[in-house]
Formats: sequence, C-alpha cells, structure tokens
Amino acid sequence: MKITLGYLYSDLMNIYGDTGNIITLTKRAQWRGIEVEIRHISVGDKLKKGDVDIFFFGGGQDQAQELVAKDLGQSGKGKVIKEEAERGVPLLAICGGYQLLGDYYQPHEGPKLPGVGLFPAYTKASFDRMIGNIVIRIQSAEFRMQNEEIHNSKFLIPNSLVGFENHSGKTYLKDGAKPLGTVVKGHGNNGEDKSEGCIHKNAVGTYMHGSLLPKNPKLADWLLKKALEVKYGKEIKLEPLDDTLENQAHQAAVSRFS
Ligand code: GLN
Repeated sequence: MKITLGYLYSDLMNIYGDTGNIITLTKRAQWRGIEVEIRHISVGDKLKKGDVDIFFFGGGQDQAQELVAKDLGQSGKGKVIKEEAERGVPLLAICGGYQLLGDYYQPHEGPKLPGVGLFPAYTKASFDRMIGNIVIRIQSAEFRMQNEEIHNSKFLIPNSLVGFENHSGKTYLKDGAKPLGTVVKGHGNNGEDKSEGCIHKNAVGTYMHGSLLPKNPKLADWLLKKALEVKYGKEIKLEPLDDTLENQAHQAAVSRFS
C-alpha cells in the first residue's frame, strides 16, 4: 500500500517543530511496509481530488497566514481541501493552520482573513499569549484507547493528548461543533471555555504543537488508518508497533503536571 502526505504550505507554515508530525506519520507507515510520498503544496500549486491521502497544515505567524489565506481562496485549494475532508480524507491542522480552516481569523491589524469553513469555528486575535505545555482529555470516541490498554498502560490521565501551545488567537466553536478534547492543563482554544481543538469527520484541528504526534502515537495511527480506509475502501487493521518510548515521552509530559 502507499499513502501520499500533503504538506500544506510547508515553506510558510511550519513553526515549533510541526514537521515532526510529517516525520512521525512517515515512519509509522514505513515501519509497517507502507510506501510514503510527501507532497509539498504551497502558493500557486495546483491541488485536485484524490491527490492527497492525509493533509497536514502546520502553524505560522500572522504575516504568513495572510498570504496563505489569500492563496487558499484564489487558487481554489481551500475548496478542494474542504471537499476532500468532507468525503473523509483525514487532516491534521495545528494552530495557525487550524485557524485558517475555520470560518475566519481576525488578526489585530489588517483585514479579517477568510477561512476555508471546514471547522465550524472562528478565531479572533487577543492580547493574551497562551503559551506552555498542554494536556487534554480526548472527547471523541474515535481514537480513545480500549479499557484494557488504559489499565495496562497506567496512563496518569487516560485518553489524554499532550503538546505545547503558543498562540494569541482565541478560537470559538460554533453550536454543534465537536471539540477534540477538554483542557486538563493549559489554555486550549481560547483559555475560557476549557475546549481544545475541533474534530470534524476525520479532520482534526488543534493548538497542540510539540510536535504533537511523536508523543501521541494513537492519534498518528488513527490518521494513517483513516487515510488507508478512505483510499482503499476497506477496513484496515494496522499492526501494533512497540510504543514504549512514545508512551514514556507521553507519561513524562503528563507527569510534569501531576
Ligand atoms: N498567529 C496565530 C496566533 O498567534 C497562530 C500562531 C501559531 O501558529 N503558533 O494565534
């Protein structure tokens, strides 16, 4: 089997180690004998249905976001990304990338940046800097661990995701939107309502840099599984990997707060 990772605006939207997510998806696929192609998609590039099996969209500063928002609209790539996600193609968007996939991002200065409208959410710049390690408890049943795994793994906080956040934008979920999780420690979407991120079908938006996936292998495998199932049209069971190190890194991050 083969998957194509679509790395959106990798030249403009890649801060706080977000490329680590591409490396994690690549290695976890290759360790299972799955061929991987990484396709960098940026300003002026074309994109059509079926080109990509998983989209990744990293974080970026306001200046880059203005350029990217314009390209997403003018090139039609934003519309394609939304249509692909609506048919179930998985996506992971971090911080600035996440903000541009909602309805809009209103920076401190300058015009409101139109979003792709994938996540039922909107973002407004604030004067609060929400920065630091973050731990959330996963809300979605999609990739919660099985009970015996929780018991055996002795996770300090079952069904948790850990990461690092650094944003001043505050994202608010619209009625009916599903948060990725609830903040246990940190700020999350806006530092006010304890929500973090948003999940829509197989698309995940979050403020969790880190990079996120190395310390959260369940989420990485969930994205890979969904990509293969959409591409090949059948249920896929990924062989388990030895995640001892990944889980130790996860535990170390969680225990910092406990
Ligand atoms: N410019 C956005 C904010 O500060 C996103 C920053 C980021 O991607 N870390 O909220």
